[in-house]
Amino acid sequence: MEEERFVDAGMQSDDISLENSLRPHNLKEYIGQDTVKESLSLSIEAALKRHEPLDHMLLYGPPGLGKTTLSAIVASEMGQNIRVTSGPAIERPGDLASILANLNEGDVLFIDEIHRLSRSVEEVLYPAMEDFAIDIMLGKGPTARSIRVAVPHFTLVGATTRFGQLSAPLRDRFGMIYRLELYTPDQLAAIVTRSANILKVKGTTPDGMMEIAKRSRGTPRVANRMLKRARDYAEVRGDGTITRDAANAALKMEGVDDLGLDKTDRNMLLTMIDKFGGGPVGLDTLAATTGEDAGTIEAVYEPFLMQLGFLMRTPRGRICTLAAYQHMGRIPPVSLQGQMQMSMDEV
Ligand code: ADP
Repeated sequence: MEEERFVDAGMQSDDISLENSLRPHNLKEYIGQDTVKESLSLSIEAALKRHEPLDHMLLYGPPGLGKTTLSAIVASEMGQNIRVTSGPAIERPGDLASILANLNEGDVLFIDEIHRLSRSVEEVLYPAMEDFAIDIMLGKGPTARSIRVAVPHFTLVGATTRFGQLSAPLRDRFGMIYRLELYTPDQLAAIVTRSANILKVKGTTPDGMMEIAKRSRGTPRVANRMLKRARDYAEVRGDGTITRDAANAALKMEGVDDLGLDKTDRNMLLTMIDKFGGGPVGLDTLAATTGEDAGTIEAVYEPFLMQLGFLMRTPRGRICTLAAYQHMGRIPPVSLQGQMQMSMDEV
């Protein structure tokens, strides 16, 4: 099995029980993503007034930002049940047909990694989303005919980390499309403070919480994982209070630097700086040289490096910024500032 990366925003084995206890249960408890929340609560209120199910909704953004959590909140704010599945789990059209047929009126159907649905499964979804019906083929060959069967009015919530991989016909059938953003350190500090209360951590200090927040890649899942490690450290080496020093020491042990970069991020930046003169370097070249998957680089590593202002995407490829050189302790080329200006003009 591949070694799990501490700051990976994806789900890890020991996250499961932790995550369920830390999930916010309503929009009020859900911290950040203010524009999404505002628009969503308006739509929920309107749908409740009309006694209609909510429009189908697509959530996209890097892993660990709260897509699954938000879908459960939508169901509970609508007073409905949620059925959770994922793109890869629905292998055949019949699997989806049976899920749809077994829903109750008003249910929320959450499909994670919806970009991974096969074409034939997607085709079952289209009439279900539009007309709340599925077409079933009877017989084979020239005498085959299809009959339309009604399915309950449901709300589909699709989640994806790869918006670009979604087919246009599927994308067009969502009434609401929301992009979740990376969280700011202040929001993450509020998230870990809330989590520390739920986990009954003996004590926390505001700068201890901020230290975790600053290093968690804008991602609540990573922040909660870091909180757990800091709690262990504080209990064993201190008096149980998560101070700035305790958080610092705990995260250092996990190989995370003061900005939240780990070995993989640093390796990626150093590859760009040392082997490609800071770029521009194409995504596939970068993937091949670092041994990472191109899709993962794009969906997981890059958003945070861009939020830090270390990396820019330009039409000619990725380039490292002056700040990245400085953070990695490398001397920036004299031409960098001029190059950066040019590349920004091109974007
Ligand atoms: P995704 O589905 O985008 O991968 P999840 O919904 O599973 O992410 O969220 C991961 C964890 O982060 C959850 O356990 C939840 O506790 C926490 N979380 C995510 N978003 C928020 C938020 N806005 N406020 C508080 N906690 C959050």
